[in-house]
Amino acid sequence: MKKLQGVAVSDGIAIGNTRIILRPKLHIRRKSITQNQIKTEFERFESHVNNVVEEIDQLITDISQNQDNRDILSTHKMILTDPEFEASVKKLIEEELLSLEQAINKHFTAVVELFSNMENGYFAQRSSDYEDVAYRLLSKILKQGGDRFEGLEQDMILITDNITPSEVTSVFAKNIQALCTERGSKNSHSSIIARSMNLPTLVNVKDLLANIENDQKVIVDGHQGVIIVDPDRKTLAEYEPLWKQEKKDKQLLLALTDKESTTSDGHQISLMSNIELPEELDNVLKVKSNGIGLFRTEFLFMGRKELPDEEEQFAIYDKIAAKIAPEPLIIRTIDVGGDKLSEVLNLEHELNPNLGVRGIRISLKHIPIFKHQIRAILRASTRENIKIMFPMISTVREIIKVKTVINECMKELEKEDIPFDNAIQIGAMIETPSAAITSDTIAEECDFLSIGTNDLIQYTLAVDRDNMAVGDYYIPYHPSVLRLIKMTADNCQKKKISCAVCGEMASEKIFIPLLLGLGINELSVSPGRLLMVKNEIMKYDLQKIKGHTDLILQQNTCEDVYDKILKYGELDEYFE
Ligand code: PEP
Ligand code: MG
Repeated sequence: MKKLQGVAVSDGIAIGNTRIILRPKLHIRRKSITQNQIKTEFERFESHVNNVVEEIDQLITDISQNQDNRDILSTHKMILTDPEFEASVKKLIEEELLSLEQAINKHFTAVVELFSNMENGYFAQRSSDYEDVAYRLLSKILKQGGDRFEGLEQDMILITDNITPSEVTSVFAKNIQALCTERGSKNSHSSIIARSMNLPTLVNVKDLLANIENDQKVIVDGHQGVIIVDPDRKTLAEYEPLWKQEKKDKQLLLALTDKESTTSDGHQISLMSNIELPEELDNVLKVKSNGIGLFRTEFLFMGRKELPDEEEQFAIYDKIAAKIAPEPLIIRTIDVGGDKLSEVLNLEHELNPNLGVRGIRISLKHIPIFKHQIRAILRASTRENIKIMFPMISTVREIIKVKTVINECMKELEKEDIPFDNAIQIGAMIETPSAAITSDTIAEECDFLSIGTNDLIQYTLAVDRDNMAVGDYYIPYHPSVLRLIKMTADNCQKKKISCAVCGEMASEKIFIPLLLGLGINELSVSPGRLLMVKNEIMKYDLQKIKGHTDLILQQNTCEDVYDKILKYGELDEYFE
């Protein structure tokens, strides 16, 4: 028996046999071309790229493709038709006398290396998209490769070096049990998709391929991030009941898909989804979410050399709004900063990016870019189901300023005779202590508030949310955090506007009754966890929860708070 540690991307336990499938290596001849061949190689570039783009177009219109695949294919098309790609490949052919295959390979190898070496997860995630495109194009030109997952069967545990986003959807469709990769990162597109599909997944498992064989029995523990190879009887006996229970639970949860998310005493709690990529939309629809409570638009601004223009943004917002209608789509304006956007915005390097120019501060510093986003959102709002939300608000002044920008954009659109929803709702994210403390004034200017607990905890407790070394200090149930949530919820209630939580806290089973008890009436969570959250909501009686939450708010220490949080499950016994 061997235990290998990886990074847990999507939780759940799986027990089964492995199937190792690596991507076949493409063989590219290393032979320089002559000056006379440059023109031919240029022509080959155009014809091959056109063929692949045509093939992609056909696949996009193929009705048997699901929405995830269609969106991924559109991204591939965008990469292939990017003029910078053409210019770079042609330059390599002309200046270095590389064959077309060599030039394409060199171009993408450099791009992939650049992205995957970036510490920033957002940039790192882009590398697999480029790998995917490079493979698609080169395998066509070289007439090598093919569908590597052809032989993959139901219930297998897929072991591979790395996987691209399009491949995750295709292997998931084969009903595999789990996925483990030697490379990859927690926030790659592939990982995000695996998570939203609820497929137990580990990435970055060190020496995975050296320690595993085909058809070997393994346990994948997606909670702890470990894969246990050749488990002994004792370990199997420990895991088997958990695995079976999880399978049963999944079935039970699926039965909740059509049920209302209502507490046992009849209070409706709006249960929405968080998405980071359009590819996740199908999963949102599958679980019949009450809409999208947080669409993080960062992916549009990451890992590229030019900014997305208004048209590109409009096309994406419009497509998502159409698919989710009549349910609402809350679009959050860009929330990046520090190193994350330096490629497209030339931001200054900051010593402390989390306290620097990020979130709304970027938008207010780059008004023309902000206006592109606002105009694109407004143009997509004609179905009247879009709302706009602003990140990292720290003072009501920022809301007043963004409203001025929105008004300017509305006036421009009116002049241009372009329709939009002129009653579009706007909301602020409450992610800083200053915003929570002044949420009465912020609520005055907004139609809804949404608490971003990931950041609110970070800023309230002065703990970097990504720094494992201070992980023990990151305590979501710290009395200070609870008081700020309560204060915000109370202020929303006074103004009769909704108060959501869209941070990770809303996806954690033990915190759901706590958040409802604090006065939260809307939760936005990853689609993969939505049914679990609904199940929790349905268990509790809101009146009883509120009484117990008042008691929790009187506790002084985190330990006492935690003890009491564990008691929500026993409330019925208290009250009977
Ligand atoms: C949050 O901070 O809780 C949040 C939802 O925003 P993000 O995780 O994108 O910073
Ligand atoms: Mg945040």
